[in-house]
Order: sequence, then structure tokens, then C-alpha cells
Amino acid sequence: MKFASLAIVKKLQNAGFAAYWAGGSVRDMLLAKQQKKKWQPKDFDIATSATPDQIETILPKTYPVGRQFGVLRVHQQGHEFEVATFRSDSGYSDGRHPDAVLFTNPQEDAKRRDFTINGLFYDPVKKHLYDYVGGQEDLLLGLIRFIGRADERIKEDKLRMLRAVRFKNALGFQYHPHTYNAIKKYAGDITVVSKERIFDEMTKILTGPSAASAFGNLEDLGLLAIVFPELEKCKGVAQPKEYHLEGDVWQHTLKSLNNFPSHPSSTLAWSILLHDVGKPDTFKTAERIRFDGHVTKSAEIAEKILKRLKAPTKFIRDVSWLIRHHMMLDNVLTMSKERRKHWLGNPLFADLLLLLRADSLGTIPQGLSLYKKVLAIYKKEKPRRMPKIKKLVDGDNLMQIFNLAEGRNVGRLLDALHEAQLDGKVKTKKQALIYLQKLYQQQNKKSP
Ligand code: ATP
Ligand code: MG
Repeated sequence: MKFASLAIVKKLQNAGFAAYWAGGSVRDMLLAKQQKKKWQPKDFDIATSATPDQIETILPKTYPVGRQFGVLRVHQQGHEFEVATFRSDSGYSDGRHPDAVLFTNPQEDAKRRDFTINGLFYDPVKKHLYDYVGGQEDLLLGLIRFIGRADERIKEDKLRMLRAVRFKNALGFQYHPHTYNAIKKYAGDITVVSKERIFDEMTKILTGPSAASAFGNLEDLGLLAIVFPELEKCKGVAQPKEYHLEGDVWQHTLKSLNNFPSHPSSTLAWSILLHDVGKPDTFKTAERIRFDGHVTKSAEIAEKILKRLKAPTKFIRDVSWLIRHHMMLDNVLTMSKERRKHWLGNPLFADLLLLLRADSLGTIPQGLSLYKKVLAIYKKEKPRRMPKIKKLVDGDNLMQIFNLAEGRNVGRLLDALHEAQLDGKVKTKKQALIYLQKLYQQQNKKSP
């Protein structure tokens, strides 16, 4: 990838234009050098004095994805790069996107970027660094500092608040005081950012290093209360001291987030974040503090949150499934072989185990014995291929029979039927229909 990006830079330079690596790749290259680590570039953004028209004549495979901002996607040697004309942005009347862009020089282009550490250019041919914003110094100091006035830069684009939290925690940096204070001041304005972008950025934060610390920051900065009021509600919710010496529900959530594997799937990451979000609503005192029914409640709230953030439907279903089943793993030890095979063959099972692990490590006293037992079974018995189970009724059938609209309810009924087949309670189509009929009636009784 590095050579392919170098080839693009050379082609642009040979045609008489300035062309540099820009932003994240330069930051990560310098950081790797500073920390004496191997540099593993993720992607290369290239900034150039050539206009989009000129780029199109110099480079053969270009795609005009962000052309109105002067950005083209370029294919080279099997890789894809963003090549952008030096520009300055102006306007930002929607609090997120520039109203107009003006093609300019590298100095101005550096100034429109968010943080000093993201505003560096590097000429990989001349091996020369261009630092117009003090990025090198902040890389050494480990500081997230806005280019220019923090207040103004946040007012232009509110997403930058979440980007600050992400970079600070991914890099193990600190906020410059101006960064910290400005985010605290404008946290309430995060609502102008589209739900999809918030979901994407939160997913990056959750799956990156230091998710727990990042969520601690979101809470402290006042962003958690706006984006996730349901999680904010977990603060101060006491837990039974017999099982949870780590503190309240929020502290348990943070501690669980601290126990990710290093590259968690986004499904796992979100399920850990939300696995106990139903506890505040189910808190009660009896012989001890209890949260009866919190698993179902957590899954329901998780679905609501993810729907609100416009997460993909399948993703919501998977996270909800993980949360719904996170207290059921002891059943694996005792269930029939046939049923166990299906559990172990479920593509989500590995994540379910990791959710149990994070939950257990997020608890004091820690108890990993169940996790270890189930893991041993999983390693030994995991089927190579998921055994097939006969489809007795499909979604269309179901919607017709019960006159249902397509939706979550259909999925739930089918899941329940699947479980009943695994248990051997249902074997034929006739039995399936009777089973579904009963279940459907029960459900309707419950929800008026
Ligand atoms: P990552 O490692 O996450 O890809 P990155 O720094 O490359 O980090 P990108 O989101 O890929 O981040 O953006 C590339 C560059 O574009 C950034 O380094 C920054 O200079 C600039 N940039 C991106 N988003 C913004 C923004 N919202 N406001 C200002 N500049 C931005
Ligand atoms: Mg990038």
C-alpha cells in the first residue's frame, strides 16, 4: 500500500504539482518513529495542488465520490486512496459540513483540519515534513489540541468532539485544556450530528484501544448524557454487594469494557456496553438488591438505542441476541448434546463467550470458572459446520397465518420455534403450528 501511494504522489509531482501524504498516515508514521514501533499504515490520504480535473487527467482510475469538496478516490495497484485538492472550507451553517470549499495552498489546507496532530504533510519523495500547525510538538507532548480556536472549530463541526475523545484514547494522549473546556461547553450540541455518524464514531471508539477510558471521558464531558441517557442512568445504581464489589452499574459497565480482547467485533463491543443497561429500570430491594428481568430489559433498551442511532437491522438483532443470552451460558454445561451442537455452531457463540468473559472480569470478586468450563467445551466440541435444522414454517407463512406485518415479532416467533425444535418439543409442521399458535396467544395476552 505504501508503494502504491508513493506511485500516486510521484505521478502528481512529475506532472508539476505538489503532492504529499496528509493527516492520519503522517501522524501514525511519526508516532511509530517516536515510540520505536513498527509503522503499520492503515490508509493514506494524499493532498495535492492539482485540481480534480487535473487529477483525473494524470491518474487513470479515479472515482468522484467527494468531488464537490475536491476529493477523488483513486485506485492504484489494488489499493484505494483519497486524493484531495488543497482547500479551505467556509460556512458550516449546519454545524457539520462546509457550505463552500475554495482550492488553496497547503498552509490553508492544514488549517481546515481538526487537530494539530492531524494537520501534518509529508513529502515521501523528498522525505520532508511540512508542519504549519505545531503538530510535531503536540505529538511529542501527547496533546489533542484544536487547530485555531477550540470553540470555533467545534461550532463548525460538532462531530469533532467525538473525534477528540477517539484520538485521545486511541493514542493514549491528553486533552489540551482548551479542547477539554470547549467540549464540555458544547457537548449538548452533539445532537446536530446525524445519528449514523454518531453510530460510526461510537463504534470506532468502542472497538479501538481504551474503550473504557473513552466512555469515562464521554461521561465526564457531558456527551454520554446526551447520546446515551440510558447509560447515564446507570450511574449511582447500587448493586448487591454479595456479587458486585466493583461499585454501581456504570462502574461495572466501564470495568467490563476494560476487558475486551484487543480487536473486538463491533457486535461484541456494543453488547458489552449495553449488557446491563436494563438494570436501572429493574432495580428492587428484597433479601438482597435484585434486578429480576434485567436481561430482557437490557436487550429491549439496547434495541431502542441502536434503532435510534440507525444501526443496521441485522446488527441490532445480533447485539440483542448476545445480551438476551449473556446469563444463560451455564445451560451449556447441562443441555442435551444435540442442542449444545446448535449453540456451539451459532456464529455468535464466540462473541457470547467473550461477553461472559468481559462481564466476569468486570465484576469483583472475579469468577472465570464458568467461562473456562464453557470455553473448554467450545474448543472440543465446536462443530465445523452448523448442523441443519428443518425449516417447518418460514417468515412468509407465519405472517400469513397470523396476519402479521414484517418485523421483530416474526423473528422472535421463529427464534422460539427454532429453540423448541432443538429441544425436541416440536418435530412436525403440525406441531410447529400448534406451538406458534400458543406462543402467539400468550404474547398477545401480555401486551394489550
Ligand atoms: P484514522 O486513523 O481514524 O483513519 P485519520 O486521521 O486518518 O485517522 P480520517 O477520518 O481518516 O482520520 O480523516 C483524515 C484526515 O482528514 C484527518 O487526519 C484530518 O486531517 C482530516 N479530517 C477528518 N475529519 C475531519 C473533521 N471532521 N474536521 C476536520 N478535519 C477532519
Ligand atoms: Mg484515515
